[in-house]
Amino acid sequence: MPELPEVEVTRRGIAPHVEGRLLTRVILRRSGLRWPFPPALPALLEGQTLRSTSRRGKYLLLQFDHGSLLVHLGMSGHLRMLPVGHPAQKHDHVDLEFGSELMRFTDPRRFGALLWHGNEDGELAAHPLLRSLGVEPLGRDDLAQLLYRNTRTRSAAIKQVLLAGDIVVGVGNIYACESLFEAGIHPNTAARRISLERYARLARAIQRVLAAAIAQGGSSLRDFIGVDGASGYFQQSYFVYDREGEDCRQCGSAVRRILQGQRSTFYCARCQR
Ligand SMILES: [Zn+2]
Repeated sequence: MPELPEVEVTRRGIAPHVEGRLLTRVILRRSGLRWPFPPALPALLEGQTLRSTSRRGKYLLLQFDHGSLLVHLGMSGHLRMLPVGHPAQKHDHVDLEFGSELMRFTDPRRFGALLWHGNEDGELAAHPLLRSLGVEPLGRDDLAQLLYRNTRTRSAAIKQVLLAGDIVVGVGNIYACESLFEAGIHPNTAARRISLERYARLARAIQRVLAAAIAQGGSSLRDFIGVDGASGYFQQSYFVYDREGEDCRQCGSAVRRILQGQRSTFYCARCQR
């Protein structure tokens, strides 16, 4: 599943090809993915200039003068830049053409989304899919304080609180496991029992792990194809993720796996307390 680093890598990949460019044609090859596409999308976008790209959590935001297109890659979606006329395959659902180049949205499992938010619909940040998202983790100096302050009454396990995304976005399963290992925090620890000092370690770990994944071109996704056609699945060397039974790289004891909310959590019982 594309996580924050893949979405950010995708944004950085497409930005030089689409920002400031006139959108010449919209091709919808089906009526929707997770939700129906806005049927008026061609009329809304053709002849408009895409001004800028940004990202909020795992939503890619393409800004036009009259509104924004929200793109979510779902479980298996990816975007690529291709020459106009490049033949479409089975799972290529949407093309946005910019002159001689097109941005193609491919999504075999069809959990992705394409939504329009016009200026008349109000602030983009107030969109139902965006308004309850937690803060962006990168570049936040106050992340530790935020985590500490917002968990004083939460007895859920810290791993679950991170995955919930309502305090901080972008810490999916892989990054939660790796960050908790780096911070030396047991994934089952009740969030409200963690001190500010330990949250400071966790905040630094989250930021470092995500920044490293972005720098390496994204990780975690076998289906991710970079905009230049290269695989975005970077063979990262994880400390604990997907390493059940193998030696902890720090202390040598066996990495363990437990289930938390139907998801596998990997951790070292000696390094994480
Ligand atoms: Zn260990």
